[in-house]
Amino acid sequence: MVRAAIALGSNLGDRVASLNGAVDELARHLAGLTASGFIDTQPEGVGEQPLFLNGAAVGGWEGEPRSLLALLQAIEQAAGRRRPYPGAPRTLDLDLILFGSAIIDEPGLAVPHPRFRGRRFVLAPLCQIAPDLLDPVTGRTVAELLRSLGEG
Ligand code: ADP
Ligand code: MG
Repeated sequence: MVRAAIALGSNLGDRVASLNGAVDELARHLAGLTASGFIDTQPEGVGEQPLFLNGAAVGGWEGEPRSLLALLQAIEQAAGRRRPYPGAPRTLDLDLILFGSAIIDEPGLAVPHPRFRGRRFVLAPLCQIAPDLLDPVTGRTVAELLRSLGEG
């Protein structure tokens, strides 16, 4: 059983319903799932867009990281996720942030997520539920990574 951390985001449609639905679905497939609260965040790096609602979840996964990614993508699809262009507003985005101590850099799957260390909208909710999770690349905890982003 590997401890996996997942970032949730939505800025299209009924954001709360999308994130709650995703948490329910994740809880059916991951062991002992814990979910954060949801926070409103400003869109970053995607131009003018509606506010995001972001959250995080941590749970145990029995199997390959690829099969977890496939589950995340199936849940996105069921929530009506469309990809008209990169960075488009989305009903639901589920990103695999950490998969135990695995370091993966393959086409279609990079873990730890390559941009999570600079993203307060990932680290803040994750820190609510799993501050001691370790980033295997830097050896720093989620709490340390969040602190290093500074106040604000
Ligand atoms: P983004 O989340 O970057 O806005 P998408 O959700 O459309 O964009 O994902 C684009 C691609 O990113 C997916 O097809 C997936 O294969 C790839 N990907 C690579 N690493 C990860 C990861 N750790 N979590 C989720 N998707 C990933
Ligand atoms: Mg994504």
